[in-house]
Amino acid sequence: MPRRKARNGTLVLGGGFGGAHVARLLGSAGATIVDPGGAMLFTPLLPEVAAGAVEPRRVMVPLRTMCPHAELVRGRATGLNATARTVTVATEFGVVEIGYERLIVALGSTARMLPIPGLAEHAITFKDLDDAIGLRNHVLRRLERAEVDPMGAARHLCFVFVGAGYAGVEALAETRQLVQDAARHFPGLSGLPQRWVLIEAGSRILSEVPDTLADYTTAHLQREGVEILDSSTLAAVDDQSVTLADGRRIPTETVVWTAGATPNPVLRELGLPLDELGRIRVDPALRVLGHAGIWALGDNARVPNTATPQRPDPPTCQHAIRQARAVARSLDGDYAAYGYRSIGEGATLGRGRGITRVLGVHVHGRLGGLLTRGYHVAMVPTASRRWRIVADGLLSTLLRRDIVELGALEERRDRP
Ligand SMILES: Cc1cc2nc3c(=O)[nH]c(=O)nc-3n(C[C@H](O)[C@H](O)[C@H](O)COP(=O)(O)OP(=O)(O)OC[C@H]3O[C@@H](n4cnc5c(N)ncnc54)[C@H](O)[C@@H]3O)c2cc1C
Repeated sequence: MPRRKARNGTLVLGGGFGGAHVARLLGSAGATIVDPGGAMLFTPLLPEVAAGAVEPRRVMVPLRTMCPHAELVRGRATGLNATARTVTVATEFGVVEIGYERLIVALGSTARMLPIPGLAEHAITFKDLDDAIGLRNHVLRRLERAEVDPMGAARHLCFVFVGAGYAGVEALAETRQLVQDAARHFPGLSGLPQRWVLIEAGSRILSEVPDTLADYTTAHLQREGVEILDSSTLAAVDDQSVTLADGRRIPTETVVWTAGATPNPVLRELGLPLDELGRIRVDPALRVLGHAGIWALGDNARVPNTATPQRPDPPTCQHAIRQARAVARSLDGDYAAYGYRSIGEGATLGRGRGITRVLGVHVHGRLGGLLTRGYHVAMVPTASRRWRIVADGLLSTLLRRDIVELGALEERRDRP
């Protein structure tokens, strides 16, 4: 097996929020990043990508521009030998072994599927760029289907989202806006009702935000005609319906699953200490317990936070970015305990509206939407990406929504 050494002895596994920010902060010292995609996916804008308000390429930040001093290895880490200080990486061109002195593990998370009959086969996850593009194609296809089969419209035009955290609420709100705008171009749909359903196991939506903002969001969605089924869980899914645990059956061909994430399963192959949820255990300076020279951060780690001692950090990009700063300091020999108190959070609710909590002030409506979008754009690494996103946003307010379906390109290639 070919062997090589990480640049400057520093190897970063995963080029997402945590890993890419660590490599960027190391600056000219350099590092080697292992990542299959070669770009950092800016997840907060995935709902806008699904809705067609932001171009898919805009939310992929190339690691070569974001971390110009880092070396990029396109591939997947598959194993770790902590004694020999090597990581095994499967690349397109074969398996390589990369030696390191310092290892940073930031492999993120994957969608958490529950053992519900039919869920894995029929639900659409919402975690990656291909999920966002796939959802967009799927809902546009439902409009086509309803136009040729109006008798089945109750099923074709019923859209069920499961999990009312940020991702679920934003994905529903933005996709709904896409469908409503697109429906104007489908004369055969006039008079056919749409049904939008948000299912949440907890007693209220958006458990992460204060009551006032969750209440505003509930009222806003209900005014828009969204059915919110809280304290409800799925019992089964098939290609024509979902069945709830209380026996209710909802005819639908669209089930979007956003009910949680689980740490990257490859962690189980690395031999690092994991907690009961599968997250790597680290000390307050983000060093992996019992493994000198290894750090972990982001969704794949259980990170203690001195500012919130009662609970470890939640899996968010704003925490991953702050953790990256602590890891960069720790790599420099400053082992001060990590602490970060979130100053705010927000969600977009479609049609320019949204909710925001910033420095204890709660804002909703158009200003809430503007603040959330502004914050998201400000967080995008590299000025050129930020300007492209701003330009997309301005164009989408001035022009009619783009309803092109990218899946059609695949079919065109298959034509004789
Ligand atoms: C739809 C959606 C919306 C979100 N919105 C927000 C928001 O508005 N605000 C917020 O704070 N958070 C948000 N989040 C959460 C946020 O995206 C995550 O908390 C954040 O990405 C975690 O960073 P990370 O570095 O741990 O993981 P990631 O950013 O997921 O990065 C993990 C990286 O590891 C790579 N990888 C995977 N397997 C391997 C392997 N075997 N070898 C090498 N590399 C590998 C992946 O390709 C990826 O690049 C959202 C998440 C989703 C899904």
